[in-house]
Amino acid sequence: MVSRKDFSDWCAETLQTALFKDYAPNGLQVEGKAYIGKIATSVTASKAAIDFAVEQKADLLLVHHGMFWKNEPPTVTGWKKERIAALLRHDINMAAYHLPLDAHPELGNNAQLAEKLGFTVERRFGEQNLLNSGSLKQVRTLGALAAHIEAVLQRKPAVVGDLNREIRKVAWCSGGAQGFFQTVIDEGVDLYLTGEISEAQYHLANETGTAFISAGHHATERYGVRALGEAAAAAFGLEVCHFDENNPA
Ligand SMILES: [Zn+2]
Repeated sequence: MVSRKDFSDWCAETLQTALFKDYAPNGLQVEGKAYIGKIATSVTASKAAIDFAVEQKADLLLVHHGMFWKNEPPTVTGWKKERIAALLRHDINMAAYHLPLDAHPELGNNAQLAEKLGFTVERRFGEQNLLNSGSLKQVRTLGALAAHIEAVLQRKPAVVGDLNREIRKVAWCSGGAQGFFQTVIDEGVDLYLTGEISEAQYHLANETGTAFISAGHHATERYGVRALGEAAAAAFGLEVCHFDENNPA
């Protein structure tokens, strides 16, 4: 067992949350019981994830996407009321770590994704150092790399570029980071991998020759929160369980 406060302090210290400017509060978002013996992890604090935490008798739901985003209405109505009511009814804490969890050099989404996909991290750059660049441990064509990503992440990526082209240098950022594509083009890599694509990136990829892979927002952010949950469980001797949804986005 660990107190809610010690758990939150450990997360803040481990993830260096104070160093980030974010769009939602990092840390405890909904307060539950004072002591935690079991954690459930999920990418998002969805109703399905909360129901899983209830079923598992978890004392804390640890997520990457919490609630209370910057441009969201501040009212507690509709789906938000249902989520919060379920947490409060069962006295379950909900803690969320967003950008600090993308960026952490070992537990973060970007670091975990690199490990899963066989990328070596050479440099962190761009806004709040959220972008990573490095090399493929094994040089592959764009087509072969896309097939490898599909096999690892269990989801078919959207690919823009010449499938026969050899990929050596790659930049990546988990989640909805397609807006960083120009910064990546300026970095001079062969490929940018992120979780989402918008209309403009198709043209930029074709016109600049920097290949683009959109591998799924959820699929690229599955691993950080699990790693954080495992690390916290090891640090405090807690039980941990993981929830995954078949989210195609
Ligand atoms: Zn995200």
